[in-house]
Amino acid sequence: MSAFRDQLVSEGLLHPAGADGIYGRSERFEAIVEALDNAVSRMSVGDGSERLRFPPAIPRETLERTKYMQNFPQLAGAIHCFCGDERAHRQLLQCIETGEDWSQHLSSSELALTAAACYPVYPLMAARGPLPAEGLLADVMSWCFRHEPSLHPTRMQFFRMREKVRLGQAGQIETFRETWMDRALDFAKALGLPAEIDDANDPFFGRAGKVMADSQRNQRLKFELLIPITDETPPVACASFNHHHDHFAAIWGVKDQDGALANTGCVGFGLERLTLALLRWHGLNSDDWPLQVRAQLWP
Ligand code: AMP
Ligand code: ZN
Repeated sequence: MSAFRDQLVSEGLLHPAGADGIYGRSERFEAIVEALDNAVSRMSVGDGSERLRFPPAIPRETLERTKYMQNFPQLAGAIHCFCGDERAHRQLLQCIETGEDWSQHLSSSELALTAAACYPVYPLMAARGPLPAEGLLADVMSWCFRHEPSLHPTRMQFFRMREKVRLGQAGQIETFRETWMDRALDFAKALGLPAEIDDANDPFFGRAGKVMADSQRNQRLKFELLIPITDETPPVACASFNHHHDHFAAIWGVKDQDGALANTGCVGFGLERLTLALLRWHGLNSDDWPLQVRAQLWP
């Protein structure tokens, strides 16, 4: 299916972990992920962002309120748990023994898996009251889940997203987004990766999804940093640059100093995809990468 995946597995960089798109990461793979994560930190020294880390779960309600279930129901993951009594437990075990579907004995919890690292930021900031005049900047990194099982190594079900999240006036969001598009292109160039930025192409669900996808493009809501990674697939989005206008602000009540709805935007780096791009373009052994590339990652 994917020659690149076979190589990554046979060279011990990724360990298939029992389901498509679920991998164990080797020490060598993780060293690159960590270096990229640190490089993003260095790029934003002096930006004054507030570092926040959340576990990879969000209230299920967040998926409802953000319209994730309208737009990407096929990617969402909700958490179900066993909450029954002993009788229900016996039935559950019996199902397992006879190879039946035992999920009927689970009930839905109040949690879903985090779909994008920035989701927990908006309600937190809204709860703090009106934004300061200069707005706010948060820094998050989270494991994210998307139910898109695939044998292409660039399409994982669990991966890490490092994000910068900006809250403020529309102009502040635009400046933030442009700054990061420049930074990301410069970074990719310094890493010796053939990258370009283009309008995004999100997999909105169903027939109504076509309208959403068109409006995303027409309103220039989202751009992506595209890098060719495998021969079998077109260039892959390794980072995205989003202007949400007042979408999240309206949901959570993020207000500016005058009490008007704020704007928000975020920039997300896919740490696994960037790692894979480096492995694809410079070889599977990072010790042998060009010195200038190594210097960017391990200064
Ligand atoms: P998005 O929120 O869709 O813009 O995702 C942000 C970034 O996460 C993308 O630019 C990718 O680099 C990364 N990403 C998204 N989906 C996947 C996936 N299935 N596997 C690995 N990385 C992903
Ligand atoms: Zn985001």
